[in-house]
Amino acid sequence: MGVRTVPSEQSEDRTKDVLISATAGDLAHKRPLALDADEDAYWRVAGTPRQTAPGRRVWFADRDAPGDTDRVIGWGEITALEDGRLYFDGARDVCLPCLDDPPSRGFTYVDPVAPRLRDEGLQASVTVSITPREALGGTDPMDVDDETVEDFLAIERNSRRKDILRDTARAAIDESTLPEATSLLWIDRAEVYTLCGACFHEDREAMWTGSTENPNYRELREHMQTKLQQGTPCTNCRADRIRALADDLAERIDVEVLVDR
Ligand SMILES: [Zn+2]
Repeated sequence: MGVRTVPSEQSEDRTKDVLISATAGDLAHKRPLALDADEDAYWRVAGTPRQTAPGRRVWFADRDAPGDTDRVIGWGEITALEDGRLYFDGARDVCLPCLDDPPSRGFTYVDPVAPRLRDEGLQASVTVSITPREALGGTDPMDVDDETVEDFLAIERNSRRKDILRDTARAAIDESTLPEATSLLWIDRAEVYTLCGACFHEDREAMWTGSTENPNYRELREHMQTKLQQGTPCTNCRADRIRALADDLAERIDVEVLVDR
């Protein structure tokens, strides 16, 4: 794989994000869960992308989305660039509005997307479709009365809308402005959170010792301690920020959920 370079810290950094058209199938083997811990995904490109840099993001847009809106179906952080390959840390499986025109082939440079997603003036829309069978969790809609189908469709529609707003908020927040985690909060030896001082103090009561132990406790502990040393945002503050932004985004992003019968 390529040589990792440190993201530029310069404030006048003019490097851009990258936008690529892709299908869900193209990304199947590039999802974080499909990658080994130390493995990066890559996308084949012509030449070496020069207007972007490690630390910037690559966004994958699905141009075959229902309706006339494009949507982003994955994004990752660029980790390295070399001739013919753009490496990134995996394509997160998301659905969010696409703010730029995806290229019909190859890739295009776009202004960094995250700040634009959290801009208060944002007006965006995204369309997704669901099927009655999906809403019913796999049951054939013919086996259920119409009223039940409609009830489940309403629940599914609502849940898709929430997912989209949360995915967008998660992609949009500025991680660098979150408080750094300073402690690990263990719930027994099973669950662990990286928290800032204030959150640790607040949640201390949740900490207890018992007999449940994560089967990979040692590895987990080591991994979390390394994460803490390298610097990572507080889990709770991050979740709060995402929740608040998702609420705000509900006003600025028009989510249309079509039913594909
Ligand atoms: Zn916190």
